[in-house]
Amino acid sequence: MTFAATILTLYPEMFPGPLGLSLAGRGLREGLWSLETVQIRDFAPDKHRTVDDTPAGGGAGMVLRADVLGAALDSVAPGRPVLAMTPRGAPLTQERVRALAAGPGMTILCGRFEGFDERLLEARDVAQISIGDYILSGGEMAAMTLLDACIRLIPGVMGAASSGMDESFETGLLEYPQYTRPVEWEGRTIPEVLRSGDHARIESWRRAQAETDTRLRRPDLWERHEGARVQSPSGARQRNGKQT
Ligand code: SAH
Repeated sequence: MTFAATILTLYPEMFPGPLGLSLAGRGLREGLWSLETVQIRDFAPDKHRTVDDTPAGGGAGMVLRADVLGAALDSVAPGRPVLAMTPRGAPLTQERVRALAAGPGMTILCGRFEGFDERLLEARDVAQISIGDYILSGGEMAAMTLLDACIRLIPGVMGAASSGMDESFETGLLEYPQYTRPVEWEGRTIPEVLRSGDHARIESWRRAQAETDTRLRRPDLWERHEGARVQSPSGARQRNGKQT
């Protein structure tokens, strides 16, 4: 089964864009995943091909019309999850990416202007996804981000590197820092332990680094990680180590 992506957008010429290069691009050419775009404007009912209108209740900008989006969405073969890219959606996580990558693919709705008429999101089975707490000018790059994260997990796309279970977030922690040759650069050397050949020591050093970096850089992740690991008999959370 090929992972099939359909993108509904006002800018189909943006695709595959960066997804046509490197590992994703090779995977696309090899048929490990497929990509199709749908021009939302083709579903506008009038001769001016209007897709948006002013916000009900007033305010700046334009809103994508539910009737146009509905017709565009209904033109796509069913059977795959439909995701709308929006800052109002659930924050994207690696766990969500893994679940999506294991499925048949997805249909992605890319917004522009002020976004979608809310009724479209209510009337169709659409999951709303955000790629972070900032505002892009359109959903296309958010869609590419989501797709890129999924595609690299498709078997065959990443080759030998595809195990990736040490990667940041996969363990609930950030990854340990990485180094490569030259051994010395501008007076800085690769940590001795990584050159020791002692796999047990390397493993425990990496684990300690991952934990320290997560605790200092991402207290939110650390809290969740510790919460899952350390449970008192009553089920209440215990703090382990100093608070950050
Ligand atoms: N007025 C909206 C933002 C619209 S930005 C609001 O304040 O919520 C225009 C489009 O860009 C959105 O419809 C969405 O498709 C996309 N977009 C912007 N930021 C995004 C984000 N953080 N995650 C996913 N999509 C985003």
